[in-house]
Amino acid sequence: MRFSLALVCLALSAAPRDLKPDFAGRSGSALLFDLETNALAGVWNLPRANTTPFRPGSVLKPFTLAAYIEAGLYRQSDKAPERLAYSDNEYFDKLATRMDKEDLTRGYARFGLNQQATTTTLANLLAAARRLIARSREERLRPVFDGMEQAVEYGTARLAAVSSTQVAGKTGTMRDSAVFLGYAPASRPRYILLIHLDSGSGGGDAAPFAAKIFASLFSTAAPPDDPKSVSIRLFWQNPPSRLNLKPGHYPAGTPIEANTSRLNAPGPLTVALRDGHYLLTTQVPLEAYVAAVLEGEAAAFQHPASLEAMAIAARTYAAHFRVRNARRHPEEGFDYCDTTHCQDARFTATKHQPLLDAVQATEAELLWFNGQPAAAYYHADSGGWLEASSDAPYLLQRRDPWWQDTPASRWTWTIKATQLAQALNLTFITQNFRVRDKDTSGRARSLDVFGHPAEAASFRMAIGRTMGWEKLPSRLFEVKREGAMLTFTGRGRGHGIGMPQNSAEAMAAKGKTREQILAEYYPGTRISPAASGLSWRSLKSPRITLYTTNLTRDKALLAEADRELPLLEALTGFKVNPTLRVFPTREAFRDATGISTKVQGATRGRDIKLPPNPSLATLRHELLHAILESNTKISHPEWFREGLVQALLNEKSPESDRAAKLIYLHGKKHTISYWINGLP
Ligand SMILES: [Zn+2]
Ligand SMILES: [Zn+2]
Repeated sequence: MRFSLALVCLALSAAPRDLKPDFAGRSGSALLFDLETNALAGVWNLPRANTTPFRPGSVLKPFTLAAYIEAGLYRQSDKAPERLAYSDNEYFDKLATRMDKEDLTRGYARFGLNQQATTTTLANLLAAARRLIARSREERLRPVFDGMEQAVEYGTARLAAVSSTQVAGKTGTMRDSAVFLGYAPASRPRYILLIHLDSGSGGGDAAPFAAKIFASLFSTAAPPDDPKSVSIRLFWQNPPSRLNLKPGHYPAGTPIEANTSRLNAPGPLTVALRDGHYLLTTQVPLEAYVAAVLEGEAAAFQHPASLEAMAIAARTYAAHFRVRNARRHPEEGFDYCDTTHCQDARFTATKHQPLLDAVQATEAELLWFNGQPAAAYYHADSGGWLEASSDAPYLLQRRDPWWQDTPASRWTWTIKATQLAQALNLTFITQNFRVRDKDTSGRARSLDVFGHPAEAASFRMAIGRTMGWEKLPSRLFEVKREGAMLTFTGRGRGHGIGMPQNSAEAMAAKGKTREQILAEYYPGTRISPAASGLSWRSLKSPRITLYTTNLTRDKALLAEADRELPLLEALTGFKVNPTLRVFPTREAFRDATGISTKVQGATRGRDIKLPPNPSLATLRHELLHAILESNTKISHPEWFREGLVQALLNEKSPESDRAAKLIYLHGKKHTISYWINGLP
């Protein structure tokens, strides 16, 4: 047994926080490393972390597995993630014997570990962990990271789990010490945490202490700019001068007749008068707004993946541009107008089903960057070149690899020079009209407009406002003068920043997923329903669609629901194909449904929302709601909606008693017919 002393010695640069949760009076040391700042973010007992050797035990297993994979010996049938999750000693002993000694030595050395050393320091272990976790996106090492995720999900490190983020890690628990090596969020590691404790009396586990530290790093609270609803000014571009409503407040659904347009208020409506025009503002849930934006911006999309990418971009845009400093309409008393100035939102009564499916499949998902909703600009067609924006580092100027040079993405506009000058209100004009200089993307930056210098962007805005936005669809143009006429020839539509819709469609047509589309145009951002690094995944059975952030945990729930559904349908004679959405935490469930965390579930139509780990009784109860709710057009009183479910499931409550009495007096068959035809 040879022991190499502290190859790595950590020094304090900035002032990391004191990492001292209640370690229950035990001695030891801990290190927290921030991968974003590339510095120690927290320490406990640094001298000891630097110099005191200990036996790392099972926390070396991820490194052993990585060495095994890199030696080319790994087979899928090994089921290594599960074995790592359960810290299967027998399996790992076998790995070591299957490998050449050199393979293991070389494999360990890649992470800076000395295979001969059976002891190490915490500082050394951190250096090795950094090398390992730097490779967490390598497909080939996937079993290692899946194993560490699953160890926390259900395996030996499960006490390290917290509700606000997904932790991955490995414990080593020996008679004389307890070690934890882990990181979070699992999908995009930000922190690496190492803990070593002397166990004193023997046994013990470092995982619960890791949970305390991770919980303090990731708060469960939704960030303040995660909106639940947004306010929209309707008819922003053309405020009506005639309206069927007087100034005042009106409930959702109120019919609006404005000039020649008709519309039902999509949410609570406020009507005010200003300068002889009506100002209409409405408050709508974020998800309803996203559906309206898809109707306005993406109704022609052909593929679910590009529609889903659009839904996430539209929702993120809505979350990003309503915070202070980024508002589109500062100090006007509403968040967004209903035109392309913000996002083109159409609050039509009937929506296209594919659009609603895309909103549902991505519910509450935003693109995050540095803990904030990203600046998710999008546009119709890049013309082959994406434009940069100073708003965000992920909005880069570069060639658009998915642009397709079709007649539809090219345009020309011919206009009489004098007519243009008139529209721009220019009285003194010369013969000059040319592009003075261009961005590297080829977009016009400044122009000589009849002898007047002009920013190309402001010129395009002026044309858009006075002559229509379709005239000069982009700044990617050349201009030629022939006699009295000016001809603009160009490519692309829109500002060229962020995701081009045509390219998103092209990617989807080639089978790319929404994640791949968004990663292409907003590189470095991640999709998550909260700032915690979780994302929705879906699983389908023939009858039921399950959405969850934790497939491993909720797979069983889908099977359970599949088993219960026909039994419950038999109780009523109705059928439904429901969707189940299981939220990562009770807090996330509360935020999404707007109801108390004490409530067990929420069902609207066929959509069931559940907090994590629902009981079988809750599942049955909500499934029965979904069966009933999607099979009536009548708005029944609350006692009947709730009471009928409870009575059929023999749950006791005053509502249940009332419904049970009805069943006793009129029979079950009649009572259920009241559900369709109305109470007698
Ligand atoms: Zn606007
Ligand atoms: Zn209920």
